[in-house]
Amino acid sequence: MAENTPALETLASLRAYLEELRDTGVEAIPLAVPLPAGAERSVPEQASVESLCSIRSDLGECGRCGLGATRTNLVFGVGNPDARLVFVGEAPGRDEDFQGEPFVGEAGQLLTKIIQAMGFSREEVYICNVLKCRPPQNRNPQPPEIEACEPFLLRQLKAISPEAVICLGTFAAQTLLRTKEPISRLRGKFHNYHGIPLMPTFHPAFLLRNPAMKREVWSDVQQVMKLLGKDQAT
Ligand code: SF4
Repeated sequence: MAENTPALETLASLRAYLEELRDTGVEAIPLAVPLPAGAERSVPEQASVESLCSIRSDLGECGRCGLGATRTNLVFGVGNPDARLVFVGEAPGRDEDFQGEPFVGEAGQLLTKIIQAMGFSREEVYICNVLKCRPPQNRNPQPPEIEACEPFLLRQLKAISPEAVICLGTFAAQTLLRTKEPISRLRGKFHNYHGIPLMPTFHPAFLLRNPAMKREVWSDVQQVMKLLGKDQAT
């Protein structure tokens, strides 16, 4: 009997999935669906979308920390659920809080330029933050807020399974790497984040105030481009 347990579990999962489809109005499933040319990745993409949807669903109207009471919108993340590259910032700012999307203000426009310079479109990558709700007056995130929210970021990264992560700014780098080292010493080399190569670099908002540091950021992202085989775009 013991060796039948995985098969029974698979059948139970299949049954639950079919019942879920029925509840959403699906009445029949074709035995085989011909895929259009070039659509080979549609199955894994759908699997990732479902995983991210399930994480978003778990979050719900989150009030796991105090920021739930002060936010306008929860900013989950945006982009390709099957992205090769994920950008992780600190927390939503005012514009992001209003619009419910990460990196949409002036710093977001600069991030979009960096993404394009790397040979990607904004839609090809995934963008999110360590915290999903804006701290009032953009104050620094507090430890209980990080403790409550970071597990969802980790679940997102596991669902996407990117080839690399770029974390933007001191707070994101120190939080993900569990260190107090300054960003100036963390940037410029890959770190290991749960098996994913992670490159810390300066936050685009910092670059807006210190444009001379763009050279360092370009050097950092070039290492990521090389890892992803995008270095021929330079
Ligand atoms: S910051 Fe994260 S844990 Fe806190 S309320 Fe928002 S989603 Fe929930």
